[in-house]
Amino acid sequence: MMCTHRVRAAFNRMVFGLIITVLAGCLATHPVSESVVAKRAQMHMGTLVTLTVVAPNPSVSERAMRAGFNEIKRLEQLLSTWRPDTELSLVNAEAGLRAVKVSQETLELVIRSLDMAQLTRGGFNIALGPAVAAWSATERQHIPDELELQQLKPLVDWTSIQVNKVTQTIFLPRMGMRIDVGGIGKGYAADRAVVEMKRAGARAGVVAISGDIKTFGMPPEGHGFPVGIKHPRKEGELIAILELMDEAISTAGDYERFFVRDGVRYHHILSPQTLQPARACQSVTIIAREGVVADGLDTGIFVLGPEEGMALVESLPDVEAVIIDAEGTMTVSSGLRNRLGMP
Ligand code: AMP
Ligand code: MG
Repeated sequence: MMCTHRVRAAFNRMVFGLIITVLAGCLATHPVSESVVAKRAQMHMGTLVTLTVVAPNPSVSERAMRAGFNEIKRLEQLLSTWRPDTELSLVNAEAGLRAVKVSQETLELVIRSLDMAQLTRGGFNIALGPAVAAWSATERQHIPDELELQQLKPLVDWTSIQVNKVTQTIFLPRMGMRIDVGGIGKGYAADRAVVEMKRAGARAGVVAISGDIKTFGMPPEGHGFPVGIKHPRKEGELIAILELMDEAISTAGDYERFFVRDGVRYHHILSPQTLQPARACQSVTIIAREGVVADGLDTGIFVLGPEEGMALVESLPDVEAVIIDAEGTMTVSSGLRNRLGMP
């Protein structure tokens, strides 16, 4: 489908993020001052991926668009744990048996995930795979019983994951252990897609993998790419908007995948302590230079809670946050306060 609006109108309406307004398959191309702007959406990684490209001409735009989507497809092939043939699925299948050789890239993502676990004092935990599987479940609204969860506790110890940089192998020492990069992989994929879109000649753009968004460069008009942060309890409403310049944004929210039973909300972000849905926040939005940092931190800080989480954000350079606690109170990090606008 071709869309023919002028670019200014298009950007005025383009609030990305946590609200993605594109229709699947829609491509809009707008020639303005020697720039074309194109936007296209496809389903990958089990979610809607929207790419926006600012390029000098339509052929570069098309090349950058293809490069971005191809990179995301490649990473899905490498990192998914739902498909049996990916590197991480092989690592999981050999848990308790043997170390598995993986690509340098998979090794590095696992190392970065373990760094994130360290940083968030275990709030972010890629060894939670068995617990995620017990709830996976969420779709069928299955609530695992306490005994089942307690039996999984020895399997979710991220400190026992053995990564060998020399042999380039990963070993999960106990049978039944499972790595799950669902809390960090989309941010990493957004970073990588940006690299490939730039390499293909894009001047600027946005990669939005569901709520994981990475921007680069400037839109043809305006200073940055506008994004909105969703209200965690009022569907379709925003709590704030801001502009991003060469930054990533990611939100972990208890409203993204959830069900309510007997007045209790069950959602997809688990506390590594209880293996139950984490209860300290309604949503955590992180802004950082890298998508992998924004994505890992949003999940980890959701578990850590508003006080410890905001203290961590304030201690990190180039990281900002909007945290909404369990009661619905919003806290904004010091470097973001004069950047947020009301929707
Ligand atoms: P996000 O949407 O980035 O918060 O990631 C949520 C996904 O990360 C879930 O669907 C699980 O696959 C996984 N996950 C859940 N809880 C955690 C946790 N505490 N640490 C790391 N990953 C988690
Ligand atoms: Mg995350």
